[in-house]
Amino acid sequence: MCSSSPITFIQTWVARLSDSSSDGVRVLLVEDETSISEPFSNALAREGFVPRIAASLAEARVALADEAPDIVLLDLMLPDGDGRELARELRASTQIPMIMLTARGSEIDRVVGLEIGADDYVVKPFAAAEVMARIRAVLRRSRQPQAAGRLTAGDVRVDVAARRAWRGGQELSLTRKEFDLLARLARSPGQVVTREDLMSDVWDENWFGSTKTLDVHMTALRRKLGEDPAAPRCIQTVRGVGFRFDPVGED
Ligand code: CA
Repeated sequence: MCSSSPITFIQTWVARLSDSSSDGVRVLLVEDETSISEPFSNALAREGFVPRIAASLAEARVALADEAPDIVLLDLMLPDGDGRELARELRASTQIPMIMLTARGSEIDRVVGLEIGADDYVVKPFAAAEVMARIRAVLRRSRQPQAAGRLTAGDVRVDVAARRAWRGGQELSLTRKEFDLLARLARSPGQVVTREDLMSDVWDENWFGSTKTLDVHMTALRRKLGEDPAAPRCIQTVRGVGFRFDPVGED
């Protein structure tokens, strides 16, 4: 644990403290800026990850064909194209978790990254320890075994077959649509579920027009989850796109 600065030391220590399950995890780092990829790749290797750098979309495709990684970290602006192109290809054919690395801090770019199936995003410049913590969180979520018909996300439990739900130890008294909404969101913890997907999954696959009914049910569901409407912790609004279920506690 020799480190060049006390801050790096503390970051490394905190990352180790939070989880030590990085051993052997193959990380494909798609990033063309060597000033970012090389030190970050070294940091990953020091923590037990097995990093591989691809400096372009073409190199990334070669690496992916060679050996499937456990997770992909993907820059948006690459010399031979847009990282989102690769993200779409990956999502169309695999479930490999993805974290977008973006220099563009605007909300719209972040949302577009998540909408095409990225599990998380990080805005550059980033601290290596923070990204490693995100990698571990994404992997933990993607590996969480779910008993058939039962969803557990943080302190929320949903028994789909019995149509019962709990937050903490407390059973929730939900209407049919509120239950369906919670179950749909809890099925994709940490991911944005678009308004369109919620409408078609929970209401009617042929719905069109207003999604006001969604907002009405969402407000009621949040209230029953004990959320503060001004600062919800469990169900986040991703403005203009949809909602994200963020597991709170017991995770
Ligand atoms: Ca770039």
